[in-house]
Amino acid sequence: MKYFIANWKMNLTAAAASQLVGQVRPLIKSYLDKTEIIVCPSFTSLSAVAKNIIDSGMQIGAQNCSWQDVGSLTGEVSLTMLKEWGVSHVIVGHSERRQRLCESEEMINQKMSAVLKSGLVPILCVGETFSERQEGRKDFVIAGQVESALKNIQLIEKKILIAYEPVWVIGSGQAVKIDEAEHAARVIKQVLIDLYPDIDLKQSVQVLYGGSVDSKNISYFISSEYLSGVLVGGASLQTDEFANMVKIISERT
Ligand code: PEP
Repeated sequence: MKYFIANWKMNLTAAAASQLVGQVRPLIKSYLDKTEIIVCPSFTSLSAVAKNIIDSGMQIGAQNCSWQDVGSLTGEVSLTMLKEWGVSHVIVGHSERRQRLCESEEMINQKMSAVLKSGLVPILCVGETFSERQEGRKDFVIAGQVESALKNIQLIEKKILIAYEPVWVIGSGQAVKIDEAEHAARVIKQVLIDLYPDIDLKQSVQVLYGGSVDSKNISYFISSEYLSGVLVGGASLQTDEFANMVKIISERT
C-alpha cells in the first residue's frame, strides 16, 4: 500500500474542489486496494469535499490546524472542528507555512502533539532550502526538523507520516533524483531509530517524498523501498494527472 496525498494549497473554491473530487472518483475506483488517497483541500472546501468523498475510498486531510482546542485564537481552526468535517489527517509544518507564515519549530511541535492526542494522523513536512543545501547542511537541517517536531512526543500506538520535501524543488517542475530522496528518507529513519529505540517504526512511521511529483516521475518514487508514497501539490489539481498518478502507483505496487 502506498500513499498518495494531494495538497491543494490555497487553490479551488468549494464548488471547484468538490467537482474535482467528483471527476476523480470514478477514475481511481479500481486502484484503491493499492493506494491510500488523502485529499487536502482548503478549510473552506472541507465540508463540500467531505460530502462528495463519502464511499469513494478516499480520505480527507487538512492543511493546517491549531494546537489549541478552544479559545481566543482568531482565524484558527481546531482539531475538534476538523474532526466534525470528517478529517483524518493533518499536514503540519509545510515549508510554505514555515517560511512565509513564520511557523516556528515550537508551533510545529505543539501541533504535532495536539494532532496525535486528537487521534488524527499528522503529515509532518520537512526539507532543506536551496542555501542550506549549498552550505552542505541538508542532512543536519532535516534531522533537526524531525527532532524538534517530535520533542517530548511518545509514538507508542501512534501513526505519523513524514514527507521529505526539499523546499527549493516545490512547485519548480523539477523533482530531485530518487537517490537524493532515498538518502533523506534514510536520514529521517535514523533520527527516528535514535529517538524511539523501542518502537516498531515500520508500524508507526511512513516516509514520503514531495516536490514537483507528476505522472512522468512518480514511478521512481513509488518504486523505492525507502519511500511509502508521495505528497503532490500542483499536479494533483488536474483530474487526468491525479487519476494517472494513482493508476501508476497501482501498477507499480
Ligand atoms: C507541496 O505542496 O507540498 C508540493 C510538493 O507541491 P508541488 O507538487 O507542486 O511541488
